[in-house]
Amino acid sequence: METTMTFEYAPAPESRAIVTIKPKYGHFIGGKFVAGGKHFPTINPATEEVLSQIALAGKADVDAAVKAARKAYTSTWSKMSGKERGKYLYRIARIMQERAREFAVLETLDNGKPIRESRDTDIPLAAAHFFYHAGWADKLEYAGLGTSPKPLGVAGQIIPWNFPLLMLAWKVAPALAAGNTVVLKPAESTPLTALLFAEVCQQAELPAGVVNIVTGDGSTGALIVNHPGIDKIAFTGSTEVGKIIARAVAPTSKSVTLELGGKAANIVFDDAPIDETVEGIVNGIFFNQGHVCCAGSRLLLQESVAEEVLHKLKNRMEKIRVGDPMDKNTDVGAINSKEQLAKIIELAAVGDAEGAERWSPACSLPSKGFWFAPTIFTGVTQAHRIAREEIFGPVLSVLTFRTPQEAIEKANNTPFGLSAGIWSEKGSRTLWASQQLRAGVIWANTFNKFDPTSPFGGYKESGWGREGGRHGLAAYLKGVSHE
Ligand code: NDP
Repeated sequence: METTMTFEYAPAPESRAIVTIKPKYGHFIGGKFVAGGKHFPTINPATEEVLSQIALAGKADVDAAVKAARKAYTSTWSKMSGKERGKYLYRIARIMQERAREFAVLETLDNGKPIRESRDTDIPLAAAHFFYHAGWADKLEYAGLGTSPKPLGVAGQIIPWNFPLLMLAWKVAPALAAGNTVVLKPAESTPLTALLFAEVCQQAELPAGVVNIVTGDGSTGALIVNHPGIDKIAFTGSTEVGKIIARAVAPTSKSVTLELGGKAANIVFDDAPIDETVEGIVNGIFFNQGHVCCAGSRLLLQESVAEEVLHKLKNRMEKIRVGDPMDKNTDVGAINSKEQLAKIIELAAVGDAEGAERWSPACSLPSKGFWFAPTIFTGVTQAHRIAREEIFGPVLSVLTFRTPQEAIEKANNTPFGLSAGIWSEKGSRTLWASQQLRAGVIWANTFNKFDPTSPFGGYKESGWGREGGRHGLAAYLKGVSHE
């Protein structure tokens, strides 16, 4: 008789003792925390526990933050040598590394992402962005952006909830390296690591007003976008809000960069290394619960390997561990908010109604908090809404193709163009496909790889401009091309 042995994972909880969450927070303006007026709760989406009360910035708060940023810009930051600015950025980067565990635990509590990801991806990458841009601060004239590149002034920065600290780093590090000062608004549901970052600015003795953080909701974001004292808007979030911002700044002299949505094609050719590809598909869509603008949410399989890939993908998905984000063995954590969960449920129901076939592995989801099991839809066609719209959750739409040309046509048949993946053993095919794809970032035999030196951004409705690398710096300097 054959016996099978199964091993259960013992719980491996990360301790939350390292973080101190205050019951209430104000804004960080002019180097100090100042009391807010109205407050709203920020919760742990894995448990629905209220973590803290967050201030909702209104006009007076945004005015004060812009004023502090302007003062710091004219009196200190724009006058300082690049070498001195760089020292502050290095200092911030080192403190972020020293306090990495604290940041990781706080990010996981406020966002719901697995501690393994906040610890190994978000926080190290955020520190890396500061290290990388610290290196640029005294070398701007060698960046190929003109002989004497000048900062823009005060940057208004609005970020989403999917990678809270990392998106802050993408915005703040290049702005400061180029000599700008900032007013940043974190997302309503994930403000805590931005507020901890404010403490890091104090610890690094960053001159007052160089970084200002105001918390709030979309109305606070709109106040920043429409503020006449701001020279540049940098936004990451939905295409819908991106369009509102583009309209608002069109009649002004503000510069703008927009990082918006995506519906990336992850293309598997018949010569792909199947086992590696399956890992890449899982990483492409289930990393960060699929709350990733560049997620590989449209899987395009060449027909001759489709059955094998799907079989192996389902086997692999059976082993994905969904649950407590603070457990070090967890692969997929909580959905960030009740609203986002409702949106995922709604779009998945549209998938059912339009005739696609839904499959999820058996997994028991916690009773409290916001959860959605990893899901794939097969039999999806290009007309289906789940093939066209960003679901922003752990839901993969699977389509098939017969010829490489058909794969390219299907991949490009989207209003977005942020990223794409190619799986093939042939270099010539990979290069051919990458030249045909209309996407800003193209990964070959890998997915969701990020590096501060590499420009990131989209085509079409995925946004304007680039972040990261030399191209990202250009977006914070006067009179230089953004592409
Ligand atoms: P939003 O685009 O609304 O949020 C992004 C940021 O913009 C947040 O800080 C938000 O504030 C702020 N904001 C909202 N409205 C305005 C406005 N009118 N003017 C200026 N700033 C504003 O995204 P959501 O969080 O509502 O998510 C909705 C959908 O967007 C998701 O389901 C997903 O599909 C997509 N999304 C895409 C992201 C990406 O990186 N591509 C990131 C996040 C979402 P606040 O959150 O406080 O309301």
